[in-house]
Amino acid sequence: MVSTYNSNGSTPFTLSGGGLNGTFQFLNFHVHWGENSKSGSEHQVNDVKYTGEIHLVHQNSETGQIAVLGIFMNSSQNSSDEIGNTANATIKEWVKFFTTAVKLGKVNESTKLRLNLATLMGNNLNNFWRYRGSLTTPPCTEDVVWTVFKVPIVVGEDEIDSFRKDIFSKNDRSPQPLYNRIVYRNFLNETLSPIPDYNCCLDTSSNAGNKIILSKPNKYLLCFLLLFFF
Ligand SMILES: [Zn+2]
Repeated sequence: MVSTYNSNGSTPFTLSGGGLNGTFQFLNFHVHWGENSKSGSEHQVNDVKYTGEIHLVHQNSETGQIAVLGIFMNSSQNSSDEIGNTANATIKEWVKFFTTAVKLGKVNESTKLRLNLATLMGNNLNNFWRYRGSLTTPPCTEDVVWTVFKVPIVVGEDEIDSFRKDIFSKNDRSPQPLYNRIVYRNFLNETLSPIPDYNCCLDTSSNAGNKIILSKPNKYLLCFLLLFFF
């Protein structure tokens, strides 16, 4: 399931800061999920997988380099209505996405939906891991800058389950060997792993270079073209 930003007549999202080399334009986002709530994310932290993982794909128009933001999804056993009533804007925005996207049943079938991308991403974007890897789907392009955020967003288990039943039972790729890649982190107090500090960005309060900066058009509501695509 790919959601493509429809940039007709408006300024595209750009991404910069956070140690990224240059400015990247938003291309699309998509969701990975697994057969149950304990699998689905394509990254795992200390051997633990999350229910799902959102990938927001960007490209540097000057260098062609791809940067992907990964956000973990944790599912709640509460129904989407119950979760939505907690007035969490992020959850409500994802309910809009899921309820529309699940109705797409054929390859290349599409629909339009107005979503707020910043709301979908949630409010916990300060702490992340960073490494150089590849795309997880063909053509598996190398030299992709990965940014994986530490704090997951919460969605309803019924939402993810609707994707399992009506689209694919799973579409996640298992974690690959790290080989000689170095994974950095930009936060302190990690007690469970030997991952080294991300040396450019340790002070979250005073160092603006630490922040992922999303610039967006004045109009917050964006039009996405949802494509049933695998
Ligand atoms: Zn992906």
